[in-house]
Amino acid sequence: MAPARSGGCRRALEGPPPASWLTCEVVTSGAFVVGADWTEPGLFTVAPGVHRIPLPLPTDGLRAVNVYVVEDGNGLVLIDSGWALEVARHHLEAALIGLDAGLPDVRRFLVTHLHRDHYTQALAIRRELGTPVALGADEKPSLTRLDAGGEPLSAQRDRLVVAGAQPVLDRLLAMMPLAEHRARTEEYPDEWIADGTVFELTGRTLTAVHTPGHTRGHVVFVDNEAGLLFAGDHVLPHITPSIGFEPVPPELALRDFLGSLEAVRRMPDRRLLPAHGPVTDSAHTRIDQLLEHHRTRLEDCAVAVGQGAGTAYQVAGMLAWTRRFRPLDQLDTFNQMLAVIETAEHLDLLTVQGRLRSADLDGVRHYEVA
Ligand SMILES: [Zn+2]
Repeated sequence: MAPARSGGCRRALEGPPPASWLTCEVVTSGAFVVGADWTEPGLFTVAPGVHRIPLPLPTDGLRAVNVYVVEDGNGLVLIDSGWALEVARHHLEAALIGLDAGLPDVRRFLVTHLHRDHYTQALAIRRELGTPVALGADEKPSLTRLDAGGEPLSAQRDRLVVAGAQPVLDRLLAMMPLAEHRARTEEYPDEWIADGTVFELTGRTLTAVHTPGHTRGHVVFVDNEAGLLFAGDHVLPHITPSIGFEPVPPELALRDFLGSLEAVRRMPDRRLLPAHGPVTDSAHTRIDQLLEHHRTRLEDCAVAVGQGAGTAYQVAGMLAWTRRFRPLDQLDTFNQMLAVIETAEHLDLLTVQGRLRSADLDGVRHYEVA
């Protein structure tokens, strides 16, 4: 593999600085793209030796996933891999040509979590080329559940029942017959990443930090020297990550998530390289917004219970969703499921904090102000 064509970033870093990393990225052809759509296909240099490749997804909700290419001597390390789709594979290979490289130059995949849009393309490429794949150690229970033939959404279905959201569950089942839930994500990685694992690359050190919440085994990768945070789905610039959407969710995924946000907030601030959305200057700025969002959300949930909403489904129906403040019934079924589960997470955390009391009645959890 030849060294990166120095089109974009190097010139940009040495020349006049872009107005803001938030709105300005540099394509390796050398052209500035100001305020460009982050899902636009291509190879975008975001720091010396680090490139962002957005890959398409089959769902329109998230639109794309960023794979980050880190140069490692005369090879490459990929952080996340995309969804195993032919079109995503094609985009990835096309973008790597910008580095005079191809998939055989990829030495390993470091994957932030087990969701299909991050993990499955690495598995597909490994089957073909033997490229080693590493994944957070605490994803093992979920992969083991899938490996044992467990139905991937069974935990979510159970939670919808407890949340009193039978209508959402009925729509979900009508929409997705059980067989279609099955996904080829059950294969184990070659390496389980423990918290604090150090990956020594040529001229660069990446440290894995365990950030449970989005999933229990989620990890981010920190490049201390370059001031970069490869955040996966832990910190996203435009949306709040879903919580505990995984085959084996922990008891209080929201508590884990808030703890992980605070842990990353205590580390030095770094540029945010998210899996969905554009690269921004400051991870801390976005973490503060996310923490504030969940503080407000906890208050709103407590108020809704005070006003008589008794189940997570009823509370979710009283809240506004998305940045456009839409009511629950205007979300698609899949997002209604995520919304109800997230509401249940907030209510259960309020219960643990002593602000609410809960009791299960006929399999449905009811809340009241403590
Ligand atoms: Zn995810």
